[in-house]
Amino acid sequence: MILMNTNYNNLKESYLFYNIAQKTGKYLEENPGQKLYRMGIGDVSLPLVDAVIKELHEAVDNQARKDSFHGYMPECGDPALRETIAKYYERRNVKLSCEEVFVSSGASDELGDILDLFSKESTALIMEPAYPAYVDANIMAGRKIIHLPSGEENGFLPTPTEETEADLIYLCSPNNPTGAVFSKEQLKEWVDYANARGAVILFDAAYEAFIEEDLPHSIFEVKGARTCTIEICSLSKTAGFTGTRLGYTIIPKDLERSGMNINAMWVRNRTTKTNGVSYIIQKGGAAVFTSEGQEQIHKNIAVYKKNARVLMEVLDELGITYYGGRNAPYIWMKCPDGMGSWEFFDLLLHKIQVVGTPGEGFGACGEGYFRFSTFGDPEDTRVAALRIRELLGK
Ligand SMILES: *Cc1c(COP(=O)(O)O)cnc(C)c1O
Repeated sequence: MILMNTNYNNLKESYLFYNIAQKTGKYLEENPGQKLYRMGIGDVSLPLVDAVIKELHEAVDNQARKDSFHGYMPECGDPALRETIAKYYERRNVKLSCEEVFVSSGASDELGDILDLFSKESTALIMEPAYPAYVDANIMAGRKIIHLPSGEENGFLPTPTEETEADLIYLCSPNNPTGAVFSKEQLKEWVDYANARGAVILFDAAYEAFIEEDLPHSIFEVKGARTCTIEICSLSKTAGFTGTRLGYTIIPKDLERSGMNINAMWVRNRTTKTNGVSYIIQKGGAAVFTSEGQEQIHKNIAVYKKNARVLMEVLDELGITYYGGRNAPYIWMKCPDGMGSWEFFDLLLHKIQVVGTPGEGFGACGEGYFRFSTFGDPEDTRVAALRIRELLGK
């Protein structure tokens, strides 16, 4: 009989969003017709920008004609798009060759697939609260996970210590769910640590476009990162590509471990395991990096940032401690009166019909915190903020 990957038995039920759906479903059953103000899920709500739509249409038309039809695309990405993305990094003084840029169908895909390059004996360090997929992808591989809790004492930005000894280090900045962003100095500590240990950092930069303060968008802005880091990015949150699927991964050619070149390994992996990203989607994605595209996506990001400000003003007024909101589309607030995450969830749902995400769902150290997404509808966000003020202002 075939032997199965029994590591799957070690996965915990991913109960977070399931539980939220159960609770909201039950509430609506008991209170038919009630409107809910949904600020839970980290998905965008605004459509793709015009510059992207125009290119997508043109790409579809190109596929209809023999002279402009595209078959298989290069596995590591359209060379022109790889070059465009390398140029995008140049704006932050990060020099990349186009062979160091890999076009992907999204960050989640890459965060899972890239684990193929590392031994199952290697250990993974995950700073928590964390994006749940980091943990699960490593459980599936049977890898030992070291949970690195963060909290108010370090502003949700942990530093390396003796307890953080691991081979694969996950860093997410701006962070989902806390919205915290590492400074260059803080990243430098991790980079030096990884280089000294021979570890590899997986840097998730999915929210880089939301940074408005003088903070690093890419870990490659930090000296030494080229010899220890893989950076994974995505157009999902930057440009509304959650349902369209396009991302990119940076693997410097200087990144070597055990005498193996990780860039070359990834080329070998991609050319074996994928046939590249759709021509149509790559053509649409390229439009994001034009000046017109940048202007348009930043208009959308400004809408989400306005939502964040509306919520932050109310939390400030109430004197509630929170993180994020400024350089990230999430607000991570401390539940009032020492309430638990789920207790606060129930309170908001039942009293004011506002739905958020309990912090405990992102790891044990998230207990007592609550995440609001600012990707929602502006009017709904405004009403939700007023209701929160009314409820908690007493
Ligand atoms: C949304 C998100 C991503 C993006 O994933 P895609 O697969 O590109 O849609 C990656 N990392 C984090 C932390 C996220 O929140």
